[in-house]
Amino acid sequence: MTYNINDKGYYGEFGGAYIPEMLYPNVEELRQNYLKIMAEPSFKEEFDQLLKDYVGRPSPLYFAKRLSEKYNTKIYLKREDLNHTGAHKVNNTVGQILMAQRLGKTRIIAETGAGQHGVATATVCALMGIECIVYMGEIDIARQAPNVARMKMLGAVVRPALSGSRTLKDATNEAIRDWINNPVDTHYIIGSVVGPHPYPDMVARFQAIVSEEIQWQLKDKEGTTKPDYVIACVGGGSNAAGAFYHYLDDTDVKLIAVEAAGKGIHSGESAATSILGHEGIIHGSKTLLMQTNDGQITEPYSISAGLDYPGVGPMHAHLYKSGRAEFIAITDDEAMKAGLELSKLEGIIPAIESSHAFAIFDQKTFKPDDIVVINLSGRGDKDLQNYIDYFKL
Ligand SMILES: *Cc1c(COP(=O)(O)O)cnc(C)c1O
Repeated sequence: MTYNINDKGYYGEFGGAYIPEMLYPNVEELRQNYLKIMAEPSFKEEFDQLLKDYVGRPSPLYFAKRLSEKYNTKIYLKREDLNHTGAHKVNNTVGQILMAQRLGKTRIIAETGAGQHGVATATVCALMGIECIVYMGEIDIARQAPNVARMKMLGAVVRPALSGSRTLKDATNEAIRDWINNPVDTHYIIGSVVGPHPYPDMVARFQAIVSEEIQWQLKDKEGTTKPDYVIACVGGGSNAAGAFYHYLDDTDVKLIAVEAAGKGIHSGESAATSILGHEGIIHGSKTLLMQTNDGQITEPYSISAGLDYPGVGPMHAHLYKSGRAEFIAITDDEAMKAGLELSKLEGIIPAIESSHAFAIFDQKTFKPDDIVVINLSGRGDKDLQNYIDYFKL
């Protein structure tokens, strides 16, 4: 039994590629080539070099002494917040821009909600001098002005999605439409472990650098490659997939996925996808998603823009269904409190997404000699206004 993907593109019963006929050639080209390309020595070399010199990897594995003392256990933070552009997302966009180049693509499209993935994509397009078009809901463009400005400075064109609720799902539809119309020269950079096969697997492999580093860093510090727990927040699931990746089949390493409960799991305003979700198809993948009884996708809510996605990647749906990972839902209030606590105890202001993972210590008690690794997926600069409004700073 493996918890990783099988050769048909499924994690257990989840995954696959449920796509319109018109998209088939694009997805199939990627499926046939991605593993071959990733295995090329020149690809690996260039990827590793960029992660080192451009992203700033390896990101430290930091022993959080004061947090550990407070909760009487050994807590390590994987510092993805220190990456260039401030989060883990750049690991994936660096990988995909190299993939696009190897596939001979000259034009990049992406969708973005809060703008974080749009910025990470615009960044690597600037790095490589490749045309970049980011689709973004009109409402999100108005809400996320600083990220829109960043993308423009980086040379990307931000195209508003004007239909539907004018948010992420509509931006995704526009990006897919663009890809259908430009199958030869364009690569679509998806921002998490979602979408049709092979995207979830490809993105997980690019993010797997996170657990690859944790293994040797922990060996240096604790004499073992295996922690007792790995904990990460889950929106689409890419930072968690990266932190879990090399431990998926090591069942003595316990995995905890933290989802956003928003104003409460059963408040009607939440993004606790696994717990509330039912099997369905979203963005080309069979997975768990929040939907009404007649199959309409429910609008998700979380105080953190990066976690309010109505679905979850198929790897996580399988980890949930199989019981391999424990899923915990954290409310806005619990996350904000944990974010403030990390700031005061360790001098690290986390992204609100990451704050959700730190709220685990209010829910769960660990043993004094447990080694607990938390993936600190991003830094809090982008969330300062949210923190200011919430705490009346
Ligand atoms: C986007 C984002 C997330 C959520 O995305 P995943 O694919 O679930 O990792 C989490 N943390 C930060 C800092 C983000 O920017």
